[in-house]
Amino acid sequence: MNFKNLGLRAEILRAIEELGYEEATPIQQKAIPSIVDGRDLIGSAQTGTGKTAAFALPTLHRLQGTGVCRALALAPTRELAIQIEENFKKYGKYLNLKLALLYGGVKYGKQLEELRNKPDIVVATPGRLIDHLQQNNLSLSKIEVLILDEVDRMLDMGFVEDVTKIIKKTPRNRQTLFFSATIPEEVLRLSKWALNDPAEAKIDIKISAAETVSHALYPVPAIQKFDLLIALLKQIEFESLIIFFQTRRGTDKISHWLSEHGQNVRVLHSDLKQKDRMAALADFKNGKVRILSATDVASRGLDISNVTHVINYDVPQHAEDYVHRIGRTGRAKTEGEAFTLCKPEEIPLVESVEKLLGNPLPRKFLDDFSYREKQENLAPIGAVVSKKRNRGFGSRVSFGSRRRR
Ligand code: AMP
Repeated sequence: MNFKNLGLRAEILRAIEELGYEEATPIQQKAIPSIVDGRDLIGSAQTGTGKTAAFALPTLHRLQGTGVCRALALAPTRELAIQIEENFKKYGKYLNLKLALLYGGVKYGKQLEELRNKPDIVVATPGRLIDHLQQNNLSLSKIEVLILDEVDRMLDMGFVEDVTKIIKKTPRNRQTLFFSATIPEEVLRLSKWALNDPAEAKIDIKISAAETVSHALYPVPAIQKFDLLIALLKQIEFESLIIFFQTRRGTDKISHWLSEHGQNVRVLHSDLKQKDRMAALADFKNGKVRILSATDVASRGLDISNVTHVINYDVPQHAEDYVHRIGRTGRAKTEGEAFTLCKPEEIPLVESVEKLLGNPLPRKFLDDFSYREKQENLAPIGAVVSKKRNRGFGSRVSFGSRRRR
C-alpha cells in the first residue's frame, strides 16, 4: 500500500518520498489509519518492522498548529529515545515543529535549553522525565498524543511506577498509543487502564523472526565456548556482527579476550557512560569496527541495520529476547545468519526459544573443532543434528508461513 492512501499530510508525504520509502510496511498499514482517525492503539511489532514510522507519521499528522508539549514519546532506553527523536525530525522535516530529547546519564544543560525553547514534541526515558517534572521544567497538561514504545521492555526494566505517574500527569482526553513486541499480562493490565477502546495492530512475531534469517545452534561444553567462538569467527564471512551476552561482566570479559585475539571490538551495555555507548554505536554503524559486543540493551529498539551475523554467546533468558536479538540481522530484506552457542545447562532455554518459534533450531558441529565431550551428549535426544559440512552455515528452518524474498 502506498503512503498516499493513508491520509497523511502533503508535508509528511514529501519527507517520506525523499527518504525513498515506497510502500508502507504491514504495521504501518494497520496502525496509521486508526491513529490518523484519532483512536487509541495497541500495536505489537518488533524493531525492524517500521514501527517507529507507524506511530511517528500519524502523530506528526495530528499535530496541527502550534503549542507546547503536545506529543510525548516514552522509550525504555536512551538509544531508543535518540532514535525516535531522529525519526520525528526526519519525517517532520517540512513541518516546523520543535523537539526536546530527555534521557539520563548526561547533564541537564542542553535538555533545559530545549525545554525552554517550547518543544511541540518531547521524547524521553521515564526516569529523566520524572526528574524534569519534579523540577517543574515542563508540564504535560497539554499532551494530545502520548506514545509508549517498547512497553514490555519498559515494564521489565521496572519503570511501571514512573510510567504510571507520567500517564497521570497527562490529560484524560489524550490519544494514547502503546507499542510492544510482546503483550504479556502486565502490559495488558496497563493498557486497559491507560487506553480507551484501542484499535489493534499486530504483526506476527514468529514470521518476522525468521523471514530472512537462517538459524543454527552450536552445542558446546561450557569451558569450550570461547574457543568455539574463535573457531566460528575464523570460518564465517561476516561484514558486521553483534555478539550478545547475558551480563555486562561477561560482555566485558569476552570482549577483552577477543581483543587479545586480535579482533577489533566495541562494547555496548548499560554500565557504560552515555558518551561511550554512543561512540561504540557510531563506530559500529559507520563500519569502523565490524564486531559489537552487547547485552540486550542493543537487541531491542535499536535501528542498527545491515548486520550480517548475530552470535548469541549466551542463550537468552527470555525466549522473546531471541527474537529481538535475531531482529538485528536479516533486516531490510537482506539475508542474515544467527548462531547460538549453547552449553548443556542452557538446553531448557533453547527449548523455550524453539517453542516460541514453533520450530527446532538446527544443531551444528564444527568439523575441525575438537569437542571435549561426545556430540550426542551435547545435543539432546530428538534434536535435529546436521553433521554435514556447511561452509555457509546456510541451512534454513522454515518458520510458519515464511515468504522467500
Ligand atoms: P523501525 O522498525 O522503526 O526501527 O524501522 C526500521 C527501519 O526501516 C528504519 O531504518 C526505517 O527508516 C525503515 N523504514 C520504516 N518504514 C519504512 C518503509 N515504509 N519503507 C522503507 N523503509 C522503512
